[in-house]
Amino acid sequence: MNLINLATPGVQGLHPYQPGKPLEELAREYGIHDAIKLASNENPLGPSPQVQDALRQHFDTETLTRYPDGGGFALKQTLAQHHDIEPGCITLGNGSNDVLDLVARAFTTSAHSIVYSQHAFVVYMLATQSIGARSIVTPAKNWGHDLDAMLAAIEADTRVVFIANPNNPTGTWADKTTLKNFLEQVREDVIVVVDEAYFQYAATRTEYPDCAVWLSEHPNLVVTRTFSKAYGLASLRIGYALSHPDVADLLNRVRQPFNANSLALIAAEAALGDQAHVQRGVALNEAGMQRLNDAFDEIGCNYIPSVGNFVTVDVGDANNIYDALLRQGVIVRPVGGYELPNHLRVTIGLPEENERFIETLNAVLSKS
Ligand SMILES: *Cc1c(COP(=O)(O)O)cnc(C)c1O
Repeated sequence: MNLINLATPGVQGLHPYQPGKPLEELAREYGIHDAIKLASNENPLGPSPQVQDALRQHFDTETLTRYPDGGGFALKQTLAQHHDIEPGCITLGNGSNDVLDLVARAFTTSAHSIVYSQHAFVVYMLATQSIGARSIVTPAKNWGHDLDAMLAAIEADTRVVFIANPNNPTGTWADKTTLKNFLEQVREDVIVVVDEAYFQYAATRTEYPDCAVWLSEHPNLVVTRTFSKAYGLASLRIGYALSHPDVADLLNRVRQPFNANSLALIAAEAALGDQAHVQRGVALNEAGMQRLNDAFDEIGCNYIPSVGNFVTVDVGDANNIYDALLRQGVIVRPVGGYELPNHLRVTIGLPEENERFIETLNAVLSKS
């Protein structure tokens, strides 16, 4: 019996998510022990020291033994204050990817379609296809989302639109006017998810929108945030959605009962309390981004201007360059799966990591 054929057509067509190569894997496969990883958009500063203090305080048998608070009461209170919103508007997730999946599961079946853009974050495709819903993918404009095209692409059976602002892996973004116009025009029975995973980095631009302020005007809006990027907590898996309370109620019905674990809840709360740490990371990112952009200009590589903590650069034969960098202990991310076969995505690292990347890229390119 062919077990693969037993799966739903959507699942049969899926390929597993390709994560950035872990440092341990490079050590195992290539014997390289001093590698740097600029492949998964993690914060090179790590989390606030206050997070480690909070975790140490709660790292006891009781916390590890008991199920977490399934309602996430304390973190929701803190988030409610942070966003000036009711706790009933918040849905916690095992990372924000979990929340994206919950939206797809709560609102779509194989009879529905979901709209997202070419080059968009791959989890939108994964969520759509694992349900068996139909993907409507609109062509990118200047590497970014074309919101007019996305609006026009919505069909009668469309229930969800995914917008990454900014998008990963392109770092492109929509400004306040463009996004608000979209929300004004979109049918109100279409759930619009604005994925703000890189909010803190993009918010350095005055025209970058904090979409949560529009929730009361647009009950079909869902805004997602994560602790994986600027807060430096990727390993603990914690993110959330802000939405109308009825949408939160629906997401809560499909959520796994204990999707946010106790240590993640504790860490996220402590992380929110140290905004100065977040801002140090943002400033470091700004300087590193400038350094990398300047280096690309000097080398003569085109890059896609990014407001995230990563930049995607055209290096030509990306697979070979990726491999050559890997052998020198520099892990970046190939993005061929995003229809960007000539590009590599590089996370902004610590200054010394950025320098090692630039030096190695220079050496690799001059040999190729
Ligand atoms: C990294 C990222 C996320 C966050 O994923 P988590 O599950 O919260 O770790 C969400 N959306 C985009 C576009 C991202 O790049």
